[in-house]
Amino acid sequence: MISMSKLARTYRVGDADFHALNGIDLEIARGSFVAVVGKSGSGKTTLANLVTGIDRPSAGRIVVEGSDLGALDESALARWRGGKVGVVFQSFQLLPTLTVAENVMLPMDFLGVDARLSRERTMEILAKVGIVDQAAKLPLALSGGQQQRVAIARALVNDPVLLVADEPTGNLDSRTAEDVLDLFSEFADGGRTLLLVTHERDFSARADRVITLRDGRIDGDVSGGRGRNGGVR
Ligand code: ADP
Ligand code: MG
Repeated sequence: MISMSKLARTYRVGDADFHALNGIDLEIARGSFVAVVGKSGSGKTTLANLVTGIDRPSAGRIVVEGSDLGALDESALARWRGGKVGVVFQSFQLLPTLTVAENVMLPMDFLGVDARLSRERTMEILAKVGIVDQAAKLPLALSGGQQQRVAIARALVNDPVLLVADEPTGNLDSRTAEDVLDLFSEFADGGRTLLLVTHERDFSARADRVITLRDGRIDGDVSGGRGRNGGVR
């Protein structure tokens, strides 16, 4: 599903090169729930952004679902992302002037989904994440937890094979964070791949696999708690 080899991302800082990621070799199986942990600055966001094609590698290769991301041009990459990948950020990244429903429709507009079907799917997915009654509101009228649900609905509405979430619970209280994690676990149970960047060690128990990054390298790769004893819920 995801294959990285000698993957690197280097930033030019002043007149020196800074290696945010340095030689990552990693295979992630389809349908697995992988948690990525590590201290601030260890390269988690850099890795997440390479997987979603938001950013490009400086060296090495990353292949996701058969597409060599380094070889796609910008528009091919955008189309690929629109059809296959859902992305959730810590800061929600909702458009403040659009209603909740309009935010969720955006990825379908991008793929040219028929307006009626788009509206139907939007209401369905908003119901699934428990905020269908908020559809006509503007995002800022919602709580943080509700806003993140909108972002998750938007990420899932095109039925992606891969969901990448970068510290999605970082701005939420612990109770709300658990609810959001329940939604992710449900997604992973559907046989799709989930890459979750998280600070919260506790959430590793829900993953199949926990990758630790340190200074841009893999510093740990162990089984998570998911699937043991019939799965942690
Ligand atoms: P994490 O998400 O684990 O906190 P990041 O992937 O955001 O880490 O960053 C990894 C390292 O790369 C950090 O040291 C950060 O300062 C550096 N970095 C990230 N983006 C840039 C950039 N645009 N220019 C220079 N350095 C960057
Ligand atoms: Mg980060």
